[in-house]
Amino acid sequence: MKNIDRSDLTDMDEYIKFGGYSAILKALEMKPSDIIDEVKRSGLRGRGGAGFPTGMKWSFAAADPKKPKYLICNADEGEPGTFKDKPILEKNPHLLIEGMIISGYALQAEYGYIYLRGEYPKAKDILEKAIKQAYNRGYLGDNIHGKEVNFHLYVHQGAGAYICGEETALIESLEGKRGQPKIKPPFPVNEGFLSKPTVVNNVETLANIPYIIEIGAEAYSKIGSPECPGPKLFSVSGNVKNPGVYELPMGTTLREIIYTHCGGIRDDKKLKAVIPGGISTPILTPDKIDCPMDFVNMPKYGSMLGSGAVMVFDETVDLAKICLRAMKFFEHESCGKCTPCREGIGWMRAILERICSGSGMAGDIELLIEVSKNIAGKTFCPLGDGAAVVVQSFINNFRQEFEQHISKEFSKEIKVAA
Ligand code: NAD
Repeated sequence: MKNIDRSDLTDMDEYIKFGGYSAILKALEMKPSDIIDEVKRSGLRGRGGAGFPTGMKWSFAAADPKKPKYLICNADEGEPGTFKDKPILEKNPHLLIEGMIISGYALQAEYGYIYLRGEYPKAKDILEKAIKQAYNRGYLGDNIHGKEVNFHLYVHQGAGAYICGEETALIESLEGKRGQPKIKPPFPVNEGFLSKPTVVNNVETLANIPYIIEIGAEAYSKIGSPECPGPKLFSVSGNVKNPGVYELPMGTTLREIIYTHCGGIRDDKKLKAVIPGGISTPILTPDKIDCPMDFVNMPKYGSMLGSGAVMVFDETVDLAKICLRAMKFFEHESCGKCTPCREGIGWMRAILERICSGSGMAGDIELLIEVSKNIAGKTFCPLGDGAAVVVQSFINNFRQEFEQHISKEFSKEIKVAA
Protein backbone atom coordinates (compact mmCIF):
# COMPACT_ATOMS: atom_id res chain seq x y z
CA MET A 1 0.00 0.00 0.00
CA LYS A 2 3.10 2.21 -0.23
CA ASN A 3 2.18 5.60 -1.77
CA ILE A 4 -1.44 4.47 -2.10
CA ASP A 5 -2.82 7.67 -0.58
CA ARG A 6 -0.06 10.00 -1.77
CA SER A 7 -0.85 9.77 -5.42
CA ASP A 8 -3.38 8.54 -7.98
CA LEU A 9 -1.64 5.25 -8.75
CA THR A 10 -4.45 4.21 -11.09
CA ASP A 11 -2.69 6.50 -13.54
CA MET A 12 0.15 4.53 -15.13
CA ASP A 13 2.51 7.54 -15.25
CA GLU A 14 2.10 8.08 -11.52
CA TYR A 15 2.69 4.38 -10.86
CA ILE A 16 5.87 4.49 -12.96
CA LYS A 17 6.98 7.71 -11.21
CA PHE A 18 7.04 5.78 -7.91
CA GLY A 19 9.11 2.93 -9.38
CA GLY A 20 6.31 0.87 -10.94
CA TYR A 21 6.99 -1.50 -13.85
CA SER A 22 10.71 -1.66 -12.98
CA ALA A 23 10.37 -5.14 -11.44
CA ILE A 24 8.99 -6.51 -14.71
CA LEU A 25 12.04 -5.23 -16.58
CA LYS A 26 14.27 -6.96 -14.02
CA ALA A 27 12.18 -10.15 -14.23
CA LEU A 28 12.37 -10.29 -18.02
CA GLU A 29 16.17 -10.53 -17.69
CA MET A 30 15.74 -13.62 -15.48
CA LYS A 31 14.92 -17.19 -16.54
CA PRO A 32 11.32 -18.22 -15.68
CA SER A 33 12.64 -21.02 -13.43
CA ASP A 34 14.84 -18.50 -11.57
CA ILE A 35 11.79 -16.36 -10.82
CA ILE A 36 10.00 -19.41 -9.40
CA ASP A 37 13.07 -20.17 -7.26
CA GLU A 38 13.17 -16.56 -6.05
CA VAL A 39 9.51 -16.72 -5.01
CA LYS A 40 10.13 -20.08 -3.29
CA ARG A 41 13.10 -18.64 -1.38
CA SER A 42 11.11 -15.55 -0.37
CA GLY A 43 8.81 -17.77 1.72
CA LEU A 44 5.68 -16.11 0.29
CA ARG A 45 2.52 -17.97 1.25
CA GLY A 46 -0.91 -17.50 -0.33
CA ARG A 47 -2.80 -14.55 1.09
CA GLY A 48 -6.32 -15.75 0.16
CA GLY A 49 -6.63 -17.63 3.44
CA ALA A 50 -5.05 -21.07 3.15
CA GLY A 51 -1.39 -19.95 3.17
CA PHE A 52 -0.13 -22.51 0.64
CA PRO A 53 3.52 -21.79 -0.37
CA THR A 54 3.27 -19.77 -3.59
CA GLY A 55 6.58 -20.84 -5.17
CA MET A 56 5.71 -24.49 -4.59
CA LYS A 57 2.30 -24.04 -6.25
CA TRP A 58 3.98 -22.40 -9.23
CA SER A 59 6.56 -25.16 -9.55
CA PHE A 60 3.79 -27.82 -9.69
CA ALA A 61 2.13 -26.02 -12.61
CA ALA A 62 5.45 -25.36 -14.33
CA ALA A 63 6.43 -29.05 -14.07
CA ASP A 64 3.19 -30.24 -15.73
CA PRO A 65 3.97 -30.83 -19.42
CA LYS A 66 0.42 -29.93 -20.57
CA LYS A 67 0.02 -26.67 -22.47
CA PRO A 68 -1.22 -23.95 -22.51
CA LYS A 69 -1.00 -22.87 -18.89
CA TYR A 70 -3.22 -20.24 -17.31
CA LEU A 71 -2.94 -17.73 -14.49
CA ILE A 72 -6.04 -16.67 -12.60
CA CYS A 73 -6.22 -13.91 -10.03
CA ASN A 74 -8.87 -14.66 -7.43
CA ALA A 75 -10.38 -11.22 -6.81
CA ASP A 76 -13.64 -12.63 -5.46
CA GLU A 77 -12.98 -11.76 -1.82
CA GLY A 78 -16.28 -12.54 -0.19
CA GLU A 79 -15.44 -13.87 3.26
CA PRO A 80 -17.44 -11.75 5.72
CA GLY A 81 -15.09 -9.20 7.25
CA THR A 82 -12.65 -9.35 4.33
CA PHE A 83 -12.04 -6.16 2.34
CA LYS A 84 -8.23 -6.15 2.11
CA ASP A 85 -7.94 -6.69 -1.67
CA LYS A 86 -10.26 -3.75 -2.41
CA PRO A 87 -7.62 -1.01 -1.92
CA ILE A 88 -5.24 -2.81 -4.30
CA LEU A 89 -7.95 -3.28 -6.94
CA GLU A 90 -9.30 0.26 -6.68
CA LYS A 91 -6.20 2.26 -5.82
CA ASN A 92 -3.18 0.32 -7.08
CA PRO A 93 -4.33 -1.77 -10.08
CA HIS A 94 -0.98 -1.57 -11.87
CA LEU A 95 0.74 -3.31 -8.95
CA LEU A 96 -1.56 -6.30 -9.49
CA ILE A 97 -1.12 -6.15 -13.28
CA GLU A 98 2.68 -5.99 -12.93
CA GLY A 99 2.56 -8.94 -10.50
CA MET A 100 0.46 -10.93 -12.96
CA ILE A 101 2.76 -10.23 -15.92
CA ILE A 102 5.79 -11.40 -13.93
CA SER A 103 3.92 -14.47 -12.66
CA GLY A 104 2.62 -15.26 -16.15
CA TYR A 105 6.17 -15.09 -17.51
CA ALA A 106 7.48 -17.32 -14.69
CA LEU A 107 4.76 -19.90 -15.40
CA GLN A 108 5.02 -19.54 -19.18
CA ALA A 109 1.31 -18.72 -19.20
CA GLU A 110 0.18 -16.45 -22.00
CA TYR A 111 -3.33 -15.76 -20.68
CA GLY A 112 -4.41 -14.33 -17.36
CA TYR A 113 -7.84 -13.66 -15.90
CA ILE A 114 -8.88 -11.50 -12.99
CA TYR A 115 -12.05 -13.05 -11.54
CA LEU A 116 -13.59 -10.05 -9.83
CA ARG A 117 -16.41 -10.21 -7.31
CA GLY A 118 -19.70 -8.92 -8.67
CA GLU A 119 -20.02 -6.46 -5.80
CA TYR A 120 -16.90 -4.50 -6.91
CA PRO A 121 -18.16 -2.64 -10.01
CA LYS A 122 -15.88 0.35 -9.38
CA ALA A 123 -12.83 -1.93 -9.43
CA LYS A 124 -13.91 -3.36 -12.80
CA ASP A 125 -13.74 0.04 -14.50
CA ILE A 126 -10.44 0.90 -12.82
CA LEU A 127 -8.82 -2.42 -13.73
CA GLU A 128 -10.02 -2.30 -17.34
CA LYS A 129 -8.69 1.24 -17.75
CA ALA A 130 -5.33 0.22 -16.24
CA ILE A 131 -5.13 -2.90 -18.45
CA LYS A 132 -5.74 -0.74 -21.53
CA GLN A 133 -2.93 1.60 -20.46
CA ALA A 134 -0.59 -1.36 -19.98
CA TYR A 135 -1.44 -2.70 -23.48
CA ASN A 136 -0.84 0.75 -25.01
CA ARG A 137 2.59 0.96 -23.36
CA GLY A 138 3.71 -2.52 -24.44
CA TYR A 139 3.60 -4.21 -21.03
CA LEU A 140 0.70 -6.47 -22.08
CA GLY A 141 0.11 -8.24 -25.40
CA ASP A 142 2.60 -9.96 -27.67
CA ASN A 143 6.38 -9.45 -27.53
CA ILE A 144 6.38 -7.54 -24.26
CA HIS A 145 9.16 -4.97 -24.36
CA GLY A 146 10.61 -6.51 -27.50
CA LYS A 147 11.10 -9.93 -25.86
CA GLU A 148 9.52 -13.17 -26.96
CA VAL A 149 7.08 -12.96 -24.10
CA ASN A 150 3.31 -12.77 -24.56
CA PHE A 151 0.74 -12.11 -21.88
CA HIS A 152 -2.92 -11.18 -22.34
CA LEU A 153 -5.08 -10.14 -19.42
CA TYR A 154 -8.87 -10.05 -19.01
CA VAL A 155 -11.28 -9.07 -16.26
CA HIS A 156 -14.22 -11.41 -15.65
CA GLN A 157 -16.88 -10.20 -13.27
CA GLY A 158 -18.69 -12.69 -11.06
CA ALA A 159 -22.40 -12.43 -10.28
CA GLY A 160 -22.22 -12.09 -6.51
CA ALA A 161 -21.87 -15.71 -5.35
CA TYR A 162 -19.58 -16.38 -2.35
CA ILE A 163 -18.95 -19.92 -3.59
CA CYS A 164 -17.24 -18.62 -6.74
CA GLY A 165 -14.32 -17.51 -4.55
CA GLU A 166 -13.59 -21.21 -4.04
CA GLU A 167 -11.08 -21.92 -6.79
CA THR A 168 -12.74 -24.93 -8.47
CA ALA A 169 -16.14 -23.18 -8.48
CA LEU A 170 -14.41 -20.06 -9.79
CA ILE A 171 -12.93 -22.03 -12.68
CA GLU A 172 -16.31 -23.60 -13.49
CA SER A 173 -17.87 -20.14 -13.51
CA LEU A 174 -15.08 -18.75 -15.71
CA GLU A 175 -15.73 -21.59 -18.15
CA GLY A 176 -19.34 -20.42 -18.37
CA LYS A 177 -20.79 -23.17 -16.20
CA ARG A 178 -22.70 -23.05 -12.94
CA GLY A 179 -20.24 -22.08 -10.19
CA GLN A 180 -20.05 -25.21 -8.05
CA PRO A 181 -16.95 -26.73 -6.42
CA LYS A 182 -15.27 -29.97 -7.41
CA ILE A 183 -13.40 -32.48 -5.29
CA LYS A 184 -9.63 -31.91 -5.10
CA PRO A 185 -7.35 -33.57 -6.23
CA PRO A 186 -6.91 -33.06 -9.10
CA PHE A 187 -5.70 -29.61 -8.12
CA PRO A 188 -5.98 -26.72 -10.58
CA VAL A 189 -2.19 -26.70 -11.02
CA ASN A 190 -2.69 -29.91 -13.02
CA GLU A 191 -6.30 -29.74 -14.16
CA GLY A 192 -7.66 -26.26 -13.96
CA PHE A 193 -9.14 -23.85 -16.49
CA LEU A 194 -10.18 -25.82 -19.61
CA SER A 195 -8.49 -28.84 -17.92
CA LYS A 196 -5.05 -27.25 -18.32
CA PRO A 197 -2.46 -26.43 -15.63
CA THR A 198 -3.74 -23.30 -13.90
CA VAL A 199 -2.38 -21.26 -11.04
CA VAL A 200 -5.04 -19.51 -8.98
CA ASN A 201 -3.56 -16.84 -6.71
CA ASN A 202 -5.19 -14.21 -4.54
CA VAL A 203 -4.87 -10.47 -5.35
CA GLU A 204 -2.62 -9.74 -2.37
CA THR A 205 -0.36 -12.70 -3.20
CA LEU A 206 0.20 -11.47 -6.75
CA ALA A 207 0.70 -7.90 -5.53
CA ASN A 208 3.69 -9.14 -3.50
CA ILE A 209 5.54 -10.43 -6.58
CA PRO A 210 6.96 -7.12 -7.93
CA TYR A 211 8.29 -6.32 -4.44
CA ILE A 212 9.99 -9.73 -4.13
CA ILE A 213 11.67 -9.25 -7.50
CA GLU A 214 12.60 -5.67 -6.61
CA ILE A 215 14.23 -6.29 -3.20
CA GLY A 216 15.15 -9.96 -3.67
CA ALA A 217 14.05 -13.07 -1.78
CA GLU A 218 16.59 -12.66 1.00
CA ALA A 219 15.51 -9.16 2.01
CA TYR A 220 11.84 -10.09 1.66
CA SER A 221 12.21 -13.15 3.88
CA LYS A 222 13.48 -10.92 6.72
CA ILE A 223 10.13 -9.04 6.95
CA GLY A 224 7.75 -10.25 9.67
CA SER A 225 7.56 -13.86 10.86
CA PRO A 226 10.52 -16.06 9.92
CA GLU A 227 8.18 -19.00 9.16
CA CYS A 228 5.88 -17.04 6.84
CA PRO A 229 7.43 -13.71 6.01
CA GLY A 230 6.34 -10.59 4.23
CA PRO A 231 3.89 -7.78 4.71
CA LYS A 232 0.22 -8.64 5.40
CA LEU A 233 -2.98 -6.70 4.88
CA PHE A 234 -5.46 -6.83 7.75
CA SER A 235 -9.04 -5.63 7.28
CA VAL A 236 -10.34 -4.66 10.70
CA SER A 237 -14.04 -4.14 11.38
CA GLY A 238 -16.44 -4.08 14.31
CA ASN A 239 -16.17 -2.23 17.61
CA VAL A 240 -12.78 -0.54 17.20
CA LYS A 241 -12.15 3.19 17.11
CA ASN A 242 -10.44 3.16 13.71
CA PRO A 243 -11.57 0.31 11.47
CA GLY A 244 -9.92 -0.08 8.07
CA VAL A 245 -7.20 -1.89 6.11
CA TYR A 246 -3.75 -1.96 7.73
CA GLU A 247 -0.51 -3.15 6.14
CA LEU A 248 1.72 -4.61 8.85
CA PRO A 249 4.49 -7.20 9.07
CA MET A 250 3.21 -10.77 9.17
CA GLY A 251 3.22 -11.90 12.80
CA THR A 252 1.97 -8.62 14.29
CA THR A 253 -0.11 -9.56 17.34
CA LEU A 254 -3.88 -9.12 17.49
CA ARG A 255 -3.36 -6.90 20.54
CA GLU A 256 -1.13 -4.52 18.57
CA ILE A 257 -3.59 -4.46 15.66
CA ILE A 258 -6.57 -3.68 17.91
CA TYR A 259 -5.04 -1.38 20.51
CA THR A 260 -2.13 0.32 18.74
CA HIS A 261 -3.23 0.61 15.12
CA CYS A 262 -7.02 0.69 15.49
CA GLY A 263 -7.03 2.89 18.63
CA GLY A 264 -8.65 0.30 20.93
CA ILE A 265 -12.29 -0.55 21.58
CA ARG A 266 -14.91 2.03 20.66
CA ASP A 267 -16.18 4.08 23.64
CA ASP A 268 -13.45 2.35 25.68
CA LYS A 269 -15.71 -0.62 26.35
CA LYS A 270 -14.40 -4.07 27.26
CA LEU A 271 -13.35 -6.50 24.56
CA LYS A 272 -15.56 -9.61 24.47
CA ALA A 273 -14.32 -11.58 21.46
CA VAL A 274 -12.33 -11.44 18.20
CA ILE A 275 -12.68 -13.38 14.96
CA PRO A 276 -9.13 -13.11 13.59
CA GLY A 277 -9.26 -14.21 9.96
CA GLY A 278 -12.75 -13.92 8.50
CA ILE A 279 -15.99 -15.54 9.63
CA SER A 280 -14.75 -19.11 8.91
CA THR A 281 -11.91 -18.88 11.46
CA PRO A 282 -12.55 -19.84 15.11
CA ILE A 283 -13.56 -16.99 17.44
CA LEU A 284 -11.10 -16.12 20.21
CA THR A 285 -11.54 -14.96 23.81
CA PRO A 286 -9.68 -11.78 24.94
CA ASP A 287 -6.94 -13.78 26.74
CA LYS A 288 -5.71 -15.03 23.32
CA ILE A 289 -5.01 -11.66 21.68
CA ASP A 290 -1.24 -11.84 22.14
CA CYS A 291 -1.17 -14.35 19.29
CA PRO A 292 1.15 -13.44 16.40
CA MET A 293 -1.02 -13.18 13.30
CA ASP A 294 0.57 -15.63 10.88
CA PHE A 295 -0.16 -19.03 9.37
CA VAL A 296 2.10 -20.94 11.78
CA ASN A 297 1.32 -19.36 15.14
CA MET A 298 -2.45 -18.85 14.96
CA PRO A 299 -3.30 -22.58 15.19
CA LYS A 300 -1.34 -22.71 18.48
CA TYR A 301 -3.89 -20.22 19.88
CA GLY A 302 -6.86 -22.19 18.57
CA SER A 303 -7.62 -20.26 15.41
CA MET A 304 -6.28 -19.46 11.94
CA LEU A 305 -4.90 -16.44 10.09
CA GLY A 306 -7.37 -16.97 7.22
CA SER A 307 -7.70 -13.85 5.12
CA GLY A 308 -6.57 -11.56 7.96
CA ALA A 309 -10.08 -10.18 8.44
CA VAL A 310 -10.20 -9.14 12.09
CA MET A 311 -13.74 -8.73 13.49
CA VAL A 312 -13.89 -7.18 16.94
CA PHE A 313 -16.83 -7.52 19.36
CA ASP A 314 -17.22 -5.50 22.55
CA GLU A 315 -18.99 -6.47 25.79
CA THR A 316 -22.41 -5.31 24.52
CA VAL A 317 -22.56 -7.72 21.57
CA ASP A 318 -24.93 -10.72 21.68
CA LEU A 319 -22.74 -13.47 20.22
CA ALA A 320 -25.62 -15.91 19.77
CA LYS A 321 -27.15 -13.39 17.38
CA ILE A 322 -23.82 -13.00 15.55
CA CYS A 323 -23.73 -16.78 15.19
CA LEU A 324 -27.27 -16.73 13.76
CA ARG A 325 -26.32 -13.91 11.39
CA ALA A 326 -23.35 -15.95 10.14
CA MET A 327 -25.55 -19.01 9.63
CA LYS A 328 -28.04 -17.01 7.54
CA PHE A 329 -25.09 -16.00 5.36
CA PHE A 330 -23.82 -19.56 4.91
CA GLU A 331 -27.32 -20.91 4.24
CA HIS A 332 -27.89 -18.25 1.58
CA GLU A 333 -24.50 -18.87 -0.05
CA SER A 334 -24.48 -22.69 0.02
CA CYS A 335 -24.45 -23.79 -3.61
CA GLY A 336 -26.60 -26.82 -2.78
CA LYS A 337 -24.35 -29.40 -4.42
CA CYS A 338 -23.80 -31.57 -1.36
CA THR A 339 -26.40 -32.61 1.18
CA PRO A 340 -24.66 -31.98 4.53
CA CYS A 341 -24.03 -28.35 3.61
CA ARG A 342 -27.32 -27.68 1.81
CA GLU A 343 -29.54 -29.24 4.50
CA GLY A 344 -27.37 -29.05 7.61
CA ILE A 345 -26.68 -25.32 7.55
CA GLY A 346 -30.41 -24.63 7.23
CA TRP A 347 -31.04 -26.83 10.29
CA MET A 348 -28.36 -24.98 12.27
CA ARG A 349 -29.90 -21.64 11.25
CA ALA A 350 -33.35 -22.83 12.34
CA ILE A 351 -32.09 -24.00 15.75
CA LEU A 352 -30.20 -20.73 16.27
CA GLU A 353 -33.28 -18.74 15.27
CA ARG A 354 -35.29 -20.67 17.86
CA ILE A 355 -32.66 -20.00 20.53
CA CYS A 356 -32.32 -16.29 19.73
CA SER A 357 -36.08 -15.74 19.68
CA GLY A 358 -36.43 -17.11 23.22
CA SER A 359 -38.01 -20.43 22.21
CA GLY A 360 -34.84 -22.48 22.69
CA MET A 361 -35.17 -25.88 24.32
CA ALA A 362 -32.95 -27.92 26.60
CA GLY A 363 -30.66 -29.95 24.34
CA ASP A 364 -30.58 -27.39 21.53
CA ILE A 365 -26.90 -26.62 22.08
CA GLU A 366 -25.99 -30.33 21.90
CA LEU A 367 -28.16 -30.67 18.80
CA LEU A 368 -26.31 -27.78 17.15
CA ILE A 369 -22.95 -29.41 17.91
CA GLU A 370 -24.17 -32.75 16.57
CA VAL A 371 -25.43 -31.26 13.30
CA SER A 372 -22.17 -29.30 12.88
CA LYS A 373 -20.16 -32.53 13.30
CA ASN A 374 -22.17 -34.09 10.49
CA ILE A 375 -21.18 -31.23 8.17
CA ALA A 376 -17.49 -30.68 9.02
CA GLY A 377 -15.21 -32.68 6.74
CA LYS A 378 -18.13 -34.16 4.81
CA THR A 379 -18.56 -31.57 2.05
CA PHE A 380 -16.99 -30.89 -1.36
CA CYS A 381 -15.54 -27.54 -0.31
CA PRO A 382 -14.74 -25.56 2.87
CA LEU A 383 -18.06 -23.63 2.93
CA GLY A 384 -19.71 -26.27 5.11
CA ASP A 385 -16.60 -26.49 7.29
CA GLY A 386 -16.74 -22.72 7.78
CA ALA A 387 -20.33 -22.88 9.03
CA ALA A 388 -19.45 -25.76 11.37
CA VAL A 389 -16.42 -23.88 12.72
CA VAL A 390 -18.60 -20.87 13.59
CA VAL A 391 -21.11 -22.98 15.55
CA GLN A 392 -18.47 -25.10 17.31
CA SER A 393 -16.07 -22.31 18.23
CA PHE A 394 -18.82 -19.93 19.38
CA ILE A 395 -20.32 -22.64 21.62
CA ASN A 396 -16.95 -23.87 22.91
CA ASN A 397 -15.83 -20.37 23.86
CA PHE A 398 -19.11 -18.60 24.67
CA ARG A 399 -21.60 -21.31 25.64
CA GLN A 400 -23.13 -19.07 28.31
CA GLU A 401 -24.32 -16.64 25.62
CA PHE A 402 -26.51 -19.41 24.18
CA GLU A 403 -27.54 -20.75 27.59
CA GLN A 404 -28.76 -17.31 28.64
CA HIS A 405 -31.20 -17.29 25.72
CA ILE A 406 -32.43 -20.79 26.55
CA SER A 407 -32.63 -20.45 30.33
CA LYS A 408 -36.09 -20.65 31.87
CA GLU A 409 -35.76 -17.21 33.42
CA PHE A 410 -35.02 -15.73 30.04
CA SER A 411 -37.85 -17.60 28.29
CA LYS A 412 -40.27 -16.57 31.04
CA GLU A 413 -39.28 -12.92 30.59
CA ILE A 414 -39.90 -13.19 26.87
CA LYS A 415 -43.32 -14.77 27.41
CA VAL A 416 -44.33 -12.10 29.95
CA ALA A 417 -43.17 -9.37 27.56
CA ALA A 418 -45.10 -10.96 24.71
P1 NAD B 1 -6.72 -25.38 0.15
O1 NAD B 1 -5.85 -25.64 1.34
O2 NAD B 1 -7.52 -26.50 -0.41
O3 NAD B 1 -5.82 -24.85 -1.05
C1 NAD B 1 -5.02 -23.72 -1.02
C2 NAD B 1 -4.35 -23.60 -2.35
O4 NAD B 1 -3.26 -24.50 -2.46
C3 NAD B 1 -5.24 -23.89 -3.54
O5 NAD B 1 -4.88 -23.07 -4.62
C4 NAD B 1 -4.94 -25.35 -3.86
O6 NAD B 1 -5.18 -25.69 -5.22
C5 NAD B 1 -3.47 -25.42 -3.54
N1 NAD B 1 -3.05 -26.74 -3.08
C6 NAD B 1 -3.28 -27.30 -1.87
N2 NAD B 1 -2.72 -28.52 -1.80
C7 NAD B 1 -2.15 -28.76 -3.01
C8 NAD B 1 -1.42 -29.84 -3.57
N3 NAD B 1 -1.17 -30.96 -2.85
N4 NAD B 1 -0.97 -29.73 -4.82
C9 NAD B 1 -1.21 -28.61 -5.55
N5 NAD B 1 -1.89 -27.54 -5.08
C10 NAD B 1 -2.35 -27.61 -3.82
O7 NAD B 1 -7.67 -24.17 0.55
P2 NAD B 1 -8.80 -23.41 -0.26
O8 NAD B 1 -10.04 -24.20 -0.24
O9 NAD B 1 -8.27 -22.97 -1.58
O10 NAD B 1 -8.98 -22.12 0.63
C11 NAD B 1 -9.51 -22.19 1.95
C12 NAD B 1 -9.25 -20.88 2.63
O11 NAD B 1 -9.89 -19.84 1.93
C13 NAD B 1 -9.77 -20.81 4.05
O12 NAD B 1 -8.66 -20.95 4.90
C14 NAD B 1 -10.40 -19.42 4.16
O13 NAD B 1 -9.71 -18.65 5.12
C15 NAD B 1 -10.16 -18.81 2.83
N6 NAD B 1 -11.29 -18.02 2.30
C16 NAD B 1 -11.00 -16.78 1.88
C17 NAD B 1 -11.98 -15.98 1.35
C18 NAD B 1 -11.66 -14.58 0.91
O14 NAD B 1 -12.58 -13.81 0.66
N7 NAD B 1 -10.39 -14.22 0.82
C19 NAD B 1 -13.29 -16.48 1.24
C20 NAD B 1 -13.56 -17.76 1.70
C21 NAD B 1 -12.54 -18.55 2.23
